[in-house]
Amino acid sequence: MKMLHSRISFISDRRIGPVAFFCAIILAMNEHQRARYLRQMIFSNIGEAGQEKLLGARVLVVGCGATGSVIASTLARTGIGYLKIADRDFVELNNLQRQVLYDQDDVHSRTPKAIAAANKLRRVNSSIQIVPCVVDVHAENIEELIADVDLVLDGTDNFETRYLVNDACVKHNKAWIYGGAVSSYGATFTIRPHESACFRCIFLHAPPPGTLPTCDTVGVIAPIVNVIGSLVSAEAIKFFVGSGERNRGLVNIDLWENSFDVLEIERRADCPCCVKHQFAFLDDAHDGAAFLCGRNAIQIRPPKKSALDLAQLAARLQPLGRVAQNDYLVQFTLDDFDITIFPDARAIIKGTEDAGIARTVYAKYVGT
Ligand SMILES: [Zn+2]
Repeated sequence: MKMLHSRISFISDRRIGPVAFFCAIILAMNEHQRARYLRQMIFSNIGEAGQEKLLGARVLVVGCGATGSVIASTLARTGIGYLKIADRDFVELNNLQRQVLYDQDDVHSRTPKAIAAANKLRRVNSSIQIVPCVVDVHAENIEELIADVDLVLDGTDNFETRYLVNDACVKHNKAWIYGGAVSSYGATFTIRPHESACFRCIFLHAPPPGTLPTCDTVGVIAPIVNVIGSLVSAEAIKFFVGSGERNRGLVNIDLWENSFDVLEIERRADCPCCVKHQFAFLDDAHDGAAFLCGRNAIQIRPPKKSALDLAQLAARLQPLGRVAQNDYLVQFTLDDFDITIFPDARAIIKGTEDAGIARTVYAKYVGT
């Protein structure tokens, strides 16, 4: 498709007549694609030329929970040609109230969200490339994850990952779209490095842990994640199609108060990220333990890249507690802990909010 684009733009650059240009595009898109995307091609701001651009577009969705589900679903249906979905978690029952890509079977099978999302979306649109990544997005892998995409979309639920995405995207001059929702309110902002303000221009310092409301402390209603996910998706479509009025401010919406505000955001003259090019979050060596907000759980990531044999691990743990396994993870339950272990040796330890205890449990049952 990339070659196709260059061919079309080459023809276009030679200033051939509009009829010949139209014919070139008609020939480029097959009948199946024309039928599938017909309604949005009738929308004059997209048209067939815009659809071609979407089919050649490459995006990464970071986090595939509530907003990530809406974004991934919308963009797969829209025909974004390459859709990479990165998520570290598996599907749980309390996700189903708002995470539209998942169902009860996914909860029962404890399928990782990235896999469950890819399985669903391939049934929706098998003609695009969908790449699931069951990974924790961190400083050591973010640059590799964004390397082959043109736009990064925020489906995360935490500021730590957003600062990291911002550092990586500003460093590599890639656009990304922030979107977050909690309770009945949410916000979104499009970051075009060195053109618009960046995430740190808006939020200079990370809020201290535990000071922000989260979905687990104040709850969340499904409509707000759908609205924010849809706004992010619309910005992504406009980004690739190259038309439409871009969102140039920080959009704040509260569905319970029926309020919709757009705050104009200037670049910060002394922004450590987009002005001084100090990428503190990218350079910061993580200690490997991450508190999973409101879940009474800690994620432990091994210090070095590792690969586990899940079947061997399951056999080793079998005499010690209750063990369940699927293709993507081992779940081990004993006493007060519920431990989920992934092939990259990452583990989510449920039953504690103490990183020290989680590390001890990890060392004891997973090893390092
Ligand atoms: Zn900045």
